[in-house]
Amino acid sequence: MWAHDKIKVLERGWLSSNNIVMLGAEGATVVDTAYVTDVDDTLRLIDEARGDAPLVRIVNTHLHSDHAGGNAALQARHGCAVWIPPGESELVDTWDEARLSYRHTSQQCPRFTSDRVFAPHDTLHMADEDWLVLPAPGHDHAMVMLWCERLGTLISADALWEKGFGVIFPELAGIPGFAQQRDTLDLIAQLQPRWVIPGHGKPFQTVDAALQVARSRIDWLSEEPRRNTDNALKVLLAFKLLEARRMTHADLTALVEASLSRNAVMRAHYPMPPEAIAAAMGEQLLRAGAAVREGDAWVATR
Ligand SMILES: [Zn+2]
Repeated sequence: MWAHDKIKVLERGWLSSNNIVMLGAEGATVVDTAYVTDVDDTLRLIDEARGDAPLVRIVNTHLHSDHAGGNAALQARHGCAVWIPPGESELVDTWDEARLSYRHTSQQCPRFTSDRVFAPHDTLHMADEDWLVLPAPGHDHAMVMLWCERLGTLISADALWEKGFGVIFPELAGIPGFAQQRDTLDLIAQLQPRWVIPGHGKPFQTVDAALQVARSRIDWLSEEPRRNTDNALKVLLAFKLLEARRMTHADLTALVEASLSRNAVMRAHYPMPPEAIAAAMGEQLLRAGAAVREGDAWVATR
């Protein structure tokens, strides 16, 4: 089990990324801040983890809503600085919800401001250790990982989980992502981490096994890109249902329409009307046991 006095991993539920609280001489830093609907828990858990140390900084691995959804509330409460990876700072400055992915995923992320943009190969000082910023394109081309050589510990965000990795979102819009994800996995293999702290799920040491699972998955997805599209729709839908708890056919259709609007490849893979896609997706939720039917609505089971 992960245990470190100055690095506390707050493992979170379905909608939220983990939060990693780093205690150092300069105060506490939190890496990633979970989804907005979990914000009360996020504030409380971070307070418990930081103890007397003031929260001075948020560091985001990327700006998806489940990793940055607590930024605004933490910023308001603690006046902490927000450090983000490069590539999206203009979108944050102008709060471009479409290009920040919130609109077409139908997800929410309260507006925050950023104080510093860090770059790949910068070194961040957290928990009195040096963490090298590494690029991790694939799931999201602006995403980074954080590597502490001395501790042999990698914060992998959504590039590597114990069993898999995040949806390869760029591919949905026709931007190559499979090869980038493969390169990211190769980079992780080269580092030979003793510990991986993923964006979702518990920290793990079985890194070779995780890499093997991830590599066979990226092969499987890139062999037939439609699989990545199917997976993306399923993930977006399950996420929204967990947030909303109850969705009508019209709600599902609106979600499908929003996803299709921005993703040409997704449209090509699903040439039928959004209503029909929504109905098929609803059936999948029932079969997977994620939802039950109540009248014309689907209701979350977990
Ligand atoms: Zn993500």
